[in-house]
Amino acid sequence: MKITFLGTGVGIPQIGRVQSGLIMEMDGTPVLFDCGCGVLVRIVEAGYEHTDIGNIVLTHLHLDHVGDVLALLKANWLMGKTDMRIFGPQGTQEWFGKVMETYDYLKGNFEVEITELAGGETFTFQGIDCNITCTPTIHSTTSLAYRVECGGKSVVYTGDTEPSESVFEFARNADIMIHECSFPVNFEMTNHTTPDMFIEMLEQTQLHVKRLFFTHLYPHMKGHEKETLDHINQYFEGKVTIASDLMEIEV
Ligand SMILES: [Zn+2]
Ligand SMILES: [Zn+2]
Repeated sequence: MKITFLGTGVGIPQIGRVQSGLIMEMDGTPVLFDCGCGVLVRIVEAGYEHTDIGNIVLTHLHLDHVGDVLALLKANWLMGKTDMRIFGPQGTQEWFGKVMETYDYLKGNFEVEITELAGGETFTFQGIDCNITCTPTIHSTTSLAYRVECGGKSVVYTGDTEPSESVFEFARNADIMIHECSFPVNFEMTNHTTPDMFIEMLEQTQLHVKRLFFTHLYPHMKGHEKETLDHINQYFEGKVTIASDLMEIEV
């Protein structure tokens, strides 16, 4: 499996970090997880064709995770690809319907198949020999974390969340955990993660992942990267990295 971070930022613009998105190459096929603004260009910058994307998995429907979904569909349509499968939380169908309502000229151009997930399900993508499971996270809207099992390797992507006991259990023994870390140490926050909140959960729950990547960085994190890593390294037995746009990982 190969993972490419496309966007490691949030709703506030930052040089070098677009909004949320990453590609997991599973069984040779790229699957897109989240598609915030800026991700469409990053797909191409990462060396993929946007028409290679036939499956989008959404953690939740906040704009910084879905802003480029319609732009990707339109780009694909312009190049003659009209089919797409979207997996997301409850409400994805209604959200997509409303978005499409606002663009008369795009109606009827795409064949989009939407699967809504409640958390707890296992699903697969057509033609890809990997299993995906999901579980709810703690965020300000319905949101899901995903665990991908491919060829004996496992990767967990949390999307937006506070550190959560159930998400840590869900991620236990994974090869890679991609967890959000929105704000620096001592930042008072709910629905998102700071390094000290992460450590508190690490002390309460057995995690045991080999590699940890932090993503979803607010501009407030700028200049606090080393402090974040030093802090986590005191408590985390594996290797921790702060992700950047276009960073690639071989799993
Ligand atoms: Zn969010
Ligand atoms: Zn977000």
